[in-house]
Amino acid sequence: MRIAVLSDIHSNLVALDAVLGDAGAVDAIWHLGDVVGYGPDPDGVVARLMEIGAVGVLGNHDAAALGGPEIDWFNPDARAAALWTRATIGAAARAWLAAQPVTAVREGVALAHGSPRDPLREYITSRDVARQNLTAFEERLGLHGHTHVPIAFVEDGGAVTSWSPADAGRLALEGRRALLNPGSVGQPRDGDPRAAYAVLDDTLDVMTWHRVGYDIGSVQAAMRAAGLPARLADRLQHGM
Ligand code: ZN
Repeated sequence: MRIAVLSDIHSNLVALDAVLGDAGAVDAIWHLGDVVGYGPDPDGVVARLMEIGAVGVLGNHDAAALGGPEIDWFNPDARAAALWTRATIGAAARAWLAAQPVTAVREGVALAHGSPRDPLREYITSRDVARQNLTAFEERLGLHGHTHVPIAFVEDGGAVTSWSPADAGRLALEGRRALLNPGSVGQPRDGDPRAAYAVLDDTLDVMTWHRVGYDIGSVQAAMRAAGLPARLADRLQHGM
């Protein structure tokens, strides 16, 4: 199976469609949560994921959109967007989001939004946090998002090394355990505004990271028209 791995789509349907077009034919589409929040099209993104049969896990912004207490940790802009999403989202999208599990195992791969041990909160931003999390799940590979930064943490003889993919980066794991983050489709934060995603190959042992440009201006215009915070629209063009 060739699997497209998408995280942090954040109600950005234009970026999602660019990614799906770029990925082409795949056997499965897995998402790692934060399907909604920040962006202007929560219903459109959920409808597309339903249409293509994507499976995955709940993110903290999804939980907040469903009325969860996660909203209390948000900064004012994220909170405003979450309140907007709560008020905007339709019944079908709400039901689909509510059916997403907090963690999942697919084809022997562990899926979580933030981290395996604290799926809705923890950010895996260091080798130390990655090492602690590698002891928190049994599967060889774990996929996560939440930081909006593409990266791999690989266990190598007891140590953990980190690896940052360049554009179209390819990592052969050769049987090693790893935590793998595809980056964010809808709101990248690594300084590259292009949508990020990854593909796991049919041996579940090689991950490739990809970037694809999309019409950022149209998404910013939709955000402004919806009355979403200006700073959230501005940041899309900087990838930060
Ligand atoms: Zn996110």
